[in-house]
Amino acid sequence: MNRRLHDFSGTLAEHGHRSLTRARPTWLQANLGKRCNQACRHCHVDASPTRTEMMDEATADRLLWLLERNPALELIDLTGGAPELNPHFRHIVSRTRQLGRRVLDRCNLTVLFEPGQEDTAEFLAEHDVEVIASLPCYSEKNVDAQRGRGVFDKSIEGLRRLNALGYGTTRTLSLVYNPGGAFLPPGQASLEADYKRRLHEDFGVEFTNLLTLANMPIARFATDLAREGRHDEYMQLLVGAFNPATVDGLMCRHLISIGWDGALYDCDFNQMLDMPSPGSTRSIHDLTDADDWEGRPIRVGPHCFGCTAGAGSSCGGALA
Ligand code: SF4
Ligand code: SF4
Repeated sequence: MNRRLHDFSGTLAEHGHRSLTRARPTWLQANLGKRCNQACRHCHVDASPTRTEMMDEATADRLLWLLERNPALELIDLTGGAPELNPHFRHIVSRTRQLGRRVLDRCNLTVLFEPGQEDTAEFLAEHDVEVIASLPCYSEKNVDAQRGRGVFDKSIEGLRRLNALGYGTTRTLSLVYNPGGAFLPPGQASLEADYKRRLHEDFGVEFTNLLTLANMPIARFATDLAREGRHDEYMQLLVGAFNPATVDGLMCRHLISIGWDGALYDCDFNQMLDMPSPGSTRSIHDLTDADDWEGRPIRVGPHCFGCTAGAGSSCGGALA
């Protein structure tokens, strides 16, 4: 890899950003564990049914304590693996809602059919949880190739179940698209229009909005690229598509990311790369005031070009 070409800090500097620093944190993003009922090809967490890492009760309680103490934290974004498989998931959700904060659940849809999850959709609706669900295409062939055989049909079934509870009409149901290979996502607005038309016409499914995300050159996707001898080519694509207009909205500027074990990171991707947040506070058990993080530097690397390419990519979709 050409280090100079992939120097993210240097590229920021060329565009007038001396370093990447935090604004006031308004989100907590918590990884509740690496266990998932799926094992998708592009998973940046390397999640699968065989992973055993899970956030424990003490860490979940500390998360809630932190939210209670920091009113500027408007919402908690629950990720995994499949966050619903964590035994403390429902406690975290109901307490956060009692505190009047928003909850986002990154739901893979198929988990709704796992044993013990039969009433999860109803639980989400009862607590007004906003659902963000992965569906990388509206065609069975593409989804099953990326996420496993049978995943598309089950995902449509999951979407219908959520629709029946008001998701996609009176409750927020966002879908997430990521490319099926080493290319950037198409425009979010036009793809959303295609998704809406196809899912409505073919399956009677409704959703609120579509978020387009780029594939990050880490974990399973990086392994795939390396195997195909396309890693450098993909990095060149990301670097060449650097868009300075995406920098202000980068998710790491607004959130604190918490690993399943309570370790603190600048984002989910840095978590995967084992790049903890700079500074002496390394664990949620030592963190008291989220506001103290305002102005702190963010640890960056070549993978950050995945967030700034084209229209940009963040946990909330395109940035520019
Ligand atoms: S559903 Fe999500 S967390 Fe699970 S393996 Fe697929 S991408 Fe990873
Ligand atoms: S990967 Fe993206 S979100 Fe994470 S630190 Fe880099 S730019 Fe920020």
